[in-house]
Amino acid sequence: MAGLSAALTLAARGARVVVLERAQAVGGKLRQTRIEDALIDAGPTVFTMRPVFEELLRCAGHSLEERLPLVRADVLARHAWSESERLDLYADRARTADAIGTFAGAREAQGYLRFARDAQRVFRAMEVAYLRDARPGPLRLVRRMGARALPALWYLRPFESLWRALARYFRDARLQQLFGRYATYCGSSPFQAPATLMLVAHVEQEGVWVVPGGMQRVAQTVADLAQECGAELRLGSDVQRILLRAGRVNGVSLATGEFVPADAVILNADVAALADGSFGAELAHAVPRPRAGGRSLSAITWAVLGHAEGFPLSRHNVFFSPDYAAEFAQLFGARQVPAWPTVYVCAQDRDAGPGTAPDAAERLLCLINAPADGDDRSYSPTELEQCERRTFSFLERCGLKVRRSPSQTLITTPRQFETLYPATGGSLYGSATHGWRGAFSRPGARTRVPGLYLAGGSVHPGPGLPMTVLSGSLAATCLLKDAASSRRRRGRDTRGGTSMP
Ligand SMILES: Cc1cc2nc3c(=O)[nH]c(=O)nc-3n(C[C@H](O)[C@H](O)[C@H](O)COP(=O)(O)OP(=O)(O)OC[C@H]3O[C@@H](n4cnc5c(N)ncnc54)[C@H](O)[C@@H]3O)c2cc1C
Repeated sequence: MAGLSAALTLAARGARVVVLERAQAVGGKLRQTRIEDALIDAGPTVFTMRPVFEELLRCAGHSLEERLPLVRADVLARHAWSESERLDLYADRARTADAIGTFAGAREAQGYLRFARDAQRVFRAMEVAYLRDARPGPLRLVRRMGARALPALWYLRPFESLWRALARYFRDARLQQLFGRYATYCGSSPFQAPATLMLVAHVEQEGVWVVPGGMQRVAQTVADLAQECGAELRLGSDVQRILLRAGRVNGVSLATGEFVPADAVILNADVAALADGSFGAELAHAVPRPRAGGRSLSAITWAVLGHAEGFPLSRHNVFFSPDYAAEFAQLFGARQVPAWPTVYVCAQDRDAGPGTAPDAAERLLCLINAPADGDDRSYSPTELEQCERRTFSFLERCGLKVRRSPSQTLITTPRQFETLYPATGGSLYGSATHGWRGAFSRPGARTRVPGLYLAGGSVHPGPGLPMTVLSGSLAATCLLKDAASSRRRRGRDTRGGTSMP
């Protein structure tokens, strides 16, 4: 997504752009799998921060509404802890407060309203000063926030964990769990992530959207527009090395041996692959080495074509484990798949309102978090079978029975994610955002190598579709600025002041 966004931004500004994608389809993690005739979204399913996409398309003179109509979800997500404990979050804040009041009492409803207000303040404080800044760092952030920086510290709470901060708003551990789960949107633990991540709650509150036709359309729309603006898209082009001349990028070589010349390269693979020398040993120093043990979460997913019975699924559903602390201790401490994992179920044929069941078999994506150890270990068939049995029997305890045959189930493990996204161990969100420094541990768009730029979920401002769009735009902007200033420099150095092409 970041590479496509960068390509669109650059092509719309008149740059000559070639997108090299090794897969046979665009989108990367934004991918679909097929079971029988059904295409199932097997990557991101929650679309948020619509204005970021609007801005991207506007830069190419188009409107999102016209190119990619979206439908607003009434129910943000349905949450369950058992057969009798269910809670919906709504697009309407007052309705959510009422639902929380009925679920957990008036005090918790008041706590929610305070939380929603503070999450909004955190988002506003961070949006321009951090999310849209190309060179984040603690001092720079404070400078950019100016006089607001000190008072903001008490609600940004960078030194407090999200989990602990949530206890200030909620006494009911289930609500702490619900809002703490937002840390997993960047593959992190709510017990280690800074409270600042409460901004994700605001992002969802601002709108969750359904993409008719499937999430893949998001990538395809941006790819189509980039091509309309003149970008060349080459699928099935596996970049093996990024090449340098006199210390500066001058192109890439493909697995076929072909050399593709370029004045600059924006790399959209995980930065871990660059740091481990996968694109050339001489480039390993281009970024700081990712912290050992600092990987974000991987996942085990089951794409299913089946019949869901018993539980009134909405589009987005979360079934919470009985012991959240144990779940994250297993994920990040013991580095094991949790015994009783929290399960996310995306019912892709249900609307994001009441969620009426379709008549035929329906498309589901079920996901649990897993440690990013796909390069170290693979699960035996027995382990996977046990994990699957536990996951689906936990759903049954919450009232959801999924009838399906093995041929209607496609599993993806950390090892398969490692194959798709090399050098990551299957980690899906770059480095984990743990501790106050976590948010600053991702590299920015510029690298130590002239002409080499980075974009993607492992780069600032982080994972998630809207963040990667921002990262792509930031990389394009840095590249254009650098190109303009080197043209100016060369112009000055050239006798007669003529600009060099
Ligand atoms: C299961 C899952 C669920 C998620 N849920 C959500 C969600 O609900 N909402 C949300 O906003 N985000 C979600 N995310 C996160 C979101 O999908 C990612 O942050 C985002 O899509 C990552 O985009 P990216 O730009 O980093 O590139 P990637 O998607 O990682 O794509 C990188 C591209 O580079 C290509 N590439 C890599 N190496 C080479 C090479 N050597 N040569 C040529 N091409 C190469 C790859 O093939 C790939 O197409 C989810 C992710 C996963 C995996």
